[in-house]
Amino acid sequence: MADTQKCAHPACNCKAEPGSRYCSTYCHDAGKTVELSCNCGHPGCAEELTHSG
Ligand SMILES: [Zn+2]
Ligand SMILES: [Zn+2]
Repeated sequence: MADTQKCAHPACNCKAEPGSRYCSTYCHDAGKTVELSCNCGHPGCAEELTHSG
């Protein structure tokens, strides 16, 4: 078993923080909300939101 598991947020691809089921407070708050994309702000997540740069 891995110590780190995926964030519980369906739309998030980040790894959850130790002792938490979510990678960030954003996902913890949006955990019950179904979203098309994640806005946790972590790099590599929600790539569709990247506009430029
Ligand atoms: Zn995310
Ligand atoms: Zn997350």
